[in-house]
Amino acid sequence: MDAKTPQDYGGYYAWGETKTKSQYDLSTYSHYDSTNRYHHLGYDISGTNYDVAHVKWKGFWKMPNSDQLNELLSYCSYEFTKVGGVKGIKFTAPNGGSIFFPNSGSYYGATYNDDNSYGQMWASSVPQNVSFSYGPADAFVYDQTNVRVVVVNRYHGFTVRPIQNESSCDVNRDGSIDISDVVFVVNRILNGNTDYYECPDNHHPHMIDLGLPSGTLWSCCNVGATTYWDVGNYFAWGETEAKEKYDETTYKYCDNHDMNKCHDLGASIIGTNYDVAHVQWGDSWQMPSQDQIVELVNRCEMYWGGVNSVIKGYWFRGPNGSEIFLPAAGYYYGSDCSDYNKMGLYWLGQQYSSQMFYALTYGFDEDDDNLYLFARMHGLPVRPVAK
Ligand SMILES: [Zn+2]
Repeated sequence: MDAKTPQDYGGYYAWGETKTKSQYDLSTYSHYDSTNRYHHLGYDISGTNYDVAHVKWKGFWKMPNSDQLNELLSYCSYEFTKVGGVKGIKFTAPNGGSIFFPNSGSYYGATYNDDNSYGQMWASSVPQNVSFSYGPADAFVYDQTNVRVVVVNRYHGFTVRPIQNESSCDVNRDGSIDISDVVFVVNRILNGNTDYYECPDNHHPHMIDLGLPSGTLWSCCNVGATTYWDVGNYFAWGETEAKEKYDETTYKYCDNHDMNKCHDLGASIIGTNYDVAHVQWGDSWQMPSQDQIVELVNRCEMYWGGVNSVIKGYWFRGPNGSEIFLPAAGYYYGSDCSDYNKMGLYWLGQQYSSQMFYALTYGFDEDDDNLYLFARMHGLPVRPVAK
């Protein structure tokens, strides 16, 4: 929690507390008193109001329990290594995804051990075979030679590494390991952003209210996408089906494979049968207009980042703090996708009035973003808006 880079230690917490402090011992521990001794918060506080990951990051974030930490040990290989000059332990899953836990030390009383020789990280669980009077909780302990899950008194100040879903190291049906959720955590930390973007469920698309003055709601994902970071499908402008090849020879709306003989589909195809958002997703959805994309760019805080270490793109954080992510999906000409993971180029619903060859797009890369004209036969993603 609270870290900006994978090697950054982040904040320290006593078990079950959700705020950092300057002294970590029984006298400052909020879940202890002289008569009641340790308060029993349950055998697993994951996802509760005692779970700092859940309280601070919200959404699906939570602390891992001892089973999940043991799973990480069982299914991932690990090595004691350095990242950015910081010693720690790096876990690598069979799919190549990796995460790094720095030797972040710990607090005992007001004394902070920061010699970078070990790390101690809380689990959400309480061992059931240890006398409760000692105030035990599970923790992940590692140094440069050893890593294990042990039982520690709760008042110590340890770090917390949030997870999502049911485990930190999911096993797919085919037996491969998926630690994408964990990698996702690290990348969000790298972005300096600790507010988890949240779709209410997996039934995309969702209408995301960013708090824009026009009242425009943006979709959480692209047309054809199954997650909010998925690039989805690519479409030629005015076409409503994805295809294998995007060029003059396959473009439906020009004569003789000649882009100089493009059909006039109208100055705006928004909400028409040429609008892929409208056709594929129904009446509530449409392609964005120039005004809508300009509002998005002007009213949102934009930052370049990534999701799942797989795809880069821009996060747009609206005035109300909600966010959408536009992946750098690149574009198709012919059967080739160019600039995937480098730039994003998204169709708007408007044709360029003085040259029908072109339609309007919103394009970006890590350094720049702007409105561009782009020839209509290219395959580009579409990010719908709701009326
Ligand atoms: Zn969604």
